Amino acid sequence: MGSFFIYPSYCFKYIFLIARMNTTMILNSSSPSISSFFKDLTRRDVAWGILVFLGYFLTAKLGQFFFVQLHTSPAVIWPPVGIALAAMYLGGYRMWIPVALGQFCSMLSSTASPIAVVAATAAYVVQPAVSVYLMRRFGFHGSFEKGTDALILILVAFVLSAIGPGITTAAYALTGTLPATAFLTWGRSWAGGIFSIVVLVPFVTTWYPWQRVRSSRSEKLEIALSLLAVIAVDAFIFWTPYAGLLGIAVIFVLPVVLMWFVLRFAPRWLTLSIFLTAVIGIAGSMLIPSQTTTLSVQLFSDEVYIGFIAAIFLVFATIVEERRLAHRAIEKNNAVLEQALEKISGEDTAKTEFIAILAHELRNPLAPIVSAHEWLEIQQQEPESLAAIKSAQQHTLMIRRLLDDLLEMARVSQKAFKLQKETASVRDIVQQSIESTARFLQSRGHTLKVRLPEEDVFIFVDPVRIKQIVINLLNNAGKYTDPGGEIELTCERQGEFVSIRIKDNGVGIASAALPKIFDPFRRLGPTPHIGTGLGIGLSLTKRLVQMHDGTIEAESEGPGKGSTFTVRIPMRDAVPTAQTPGQPVKEKRALGRTRILIVDDNEAAAKGLEKLLVHHDQDVRSIYSGKNVLDAVASFAPDVILLDIGLPDIDGYEVARMLRAQGFSRSIVALTGYGQDSDRLRSLEAGFDYHLVKPVSVSNILAILGSIRQ
Ligand code: ADP
Repeated sequence: MGSFFIYPSYCFKYIFLIARMNTTMILNSSSPSISSFFKDLTRRDVAWGILVFLGYFLTAKLGQFFFVQLHTSPAVIWPPVGIALAAMYLGGYRMWIPVALGQFCSMLSSTASPIAVVAATAAYVVQPAVSVYLMRRFGFHGSFEKGTDALILILVAFVLSAIGPGITTAAYALTGTLPATAFLTWGRSWAGGIFSIVVLVPFVTTWYPWQRVRSSRSEKLEIALSLLAVIAVDAFIFWTPYAGLLGIAVIFVLPVVLMWFVLRFAPRWLTLSIFLTAVIGIAGSMLIPSQTTTLSVQLFSDEVYIGFIAAIFLVFATIVEERRLAHRAIEKNNAVLEQALEKISGEDTAKTEFIAILAHELRNPLAPIVSAHEWLEIQQQEPESLAAIKSAQQHTLMIRRLLDDLLEMARVSQKAFKLQKETASVRDIVQQSIESTARFLQSRGHTLKVRLPEEDVFIFVDPVRIKQIVINLLNNAGKYTDPGGEIELTCERQGEFVSIRIKDNGVGIASAALPKIFDPFRRLGPTPHIGTGLGIGLSLTKRLVQMHDGTIEAESEGPGKGSTFTVRIPMRDAVPTAQTPGQPVKEKRALGRTRILIVDDNEAAAKGLEKLLVHHDQDVRSIYSGKNVLDAVASFAPDVILLDIGLPDIDGYEVARMLRAQGFSRSIVALTGYGQDSDRLRSLEAGFDYHLVKPVSVSNILAILGSIRQ
């Protein structure tokens, strides 16, 4: 042993060489030379190294002093174990150098044999290195934000802290220098290690980043008061003789305060209060000796009590923190989701508005096209030209329907229309729907079987919308059934519902597609059928059914096996009325000449309509701006004014108001692309008598002229 102390420089050199080898191994440095190892070190590394060395060495010396001078066995107060583990966890494996030096130097004056000193040095380096390796493997994080962080640390504290004492005791035993029995030598060091790890490591790792945690004034005050409470309780338990008055109940005083830390603050405040408790507790036991027990027993019971409290509360704190952070993350995610939802619905609204504007704008150029077709149709034509005109008319009609669908869809999405509910006869609704689709079904050569209830059924609905539903389904049945198909419409009462079932023997629907068939813009692949739709008919139909609190379902046994669509509408609130509502306005032909003034900035549309009306023997004049209306009225004295609302100079509402203000008492008919209920109401308020949505066919106008004459 003497020679060992005579040649300490030899030992340092030896340790340094191992350090260099290991460090190069661990850091995987490309150059193994000593100079490059030093070059890699920053000043900060060196400062931390010195700090760890000093911390390790001084606390080890303190522990030795207590142990030897105050005879504290079996209690060993051994902070170096916790310091080594925290240093290696935070500073990397290279921290083994100050740890080894600290351990080695602290043993220089001990009575241990040189072999035991080297063994102990190695043991107390291997222990934290293995611990850190496993902690990292199992995902330990020193912030103690997860329950697993506490559990991993406790496992390391209770299991791996046995390594150092194990190797050291074996070395003592082998060299015959065991200071006590092997079990006591090993056991007391192990217990000291556990205590050191559970108290010191969480304290160092939670405070190490030194992040400034923003807290409000009241929080700061609460933390300060809580820390004072911990100090007061610790002082009461460990420094005063009165704690004994509480008997065994004294052990419950500290947990109450610590629970407050767990529930209210981040884990670092708990680790601080545990550290304070350990320092105050041990100092108290040493400075104020107990009257009833020896210092060693007192210290050992402190170690056990504080160690267990630390372990239990670390678990609590990490679980609570994990929940707190999860809750915060959910709240943050919620906010992000809400923002995204807002953005999506904003975009959706913009898209819907765009669709509505587009559909509306496309109606304007359609007006002169419709008029031109009607004009051409009534001229003397070759049969071939007539067929071409009819075909063009049919396609224009289809475009018009598509635009109507688009507009309706946009209006439903914007919730822009209200149902105009009234008591309506189911028979009438169905019959009128059949009338509307008869031509199309005939053109496809389909036969339509209709089964209606023997006794009429009345429902409280918006008849226009229910008709729209039935027409959509009949049209689809016609479109998606090969020519010459069979379509069945069955209408019957089912309890409190009226069911309308439309069955065809057409192309059918694959079972995978059935659940999505009512989604908007859903078309089931390219169909060779006359199905030039946008894929919104069924979605619109479903929404209209839902607005009536009804249901719609689609059934099909598969491709080629036909489809059945069933709509059920509840019958509540229906009161049969003597007069059947919902009768279609029969087209009335105008008789005799009427003076008509057309006001439209779209010259082509105005001229087309003028030609047609002249052909129908009306006296017509057209003007193309709002400001000339009063003059034209004065000179032409029209019976009817067909007035476009979207005039560029003065809008149609204003013109109508002006005309009424000037005492014009004849009919004013609005011609507009806007057909919503609010638009109709607005034109009524401005003084219009009728509201026609573009493109308007001459028959619409003639029907209005008829009712004006009546
Ligand atoms: P569109 O007819 O404009 O494509 P719909 O929303 O009315 O749009 O229909 C969506 C899709 O559902 C159609 O493209 C078609 O594939 C399918 N479908 C609708 N009705 C039937 C039917 N009676 N038989 C077979 N397939 C149908």
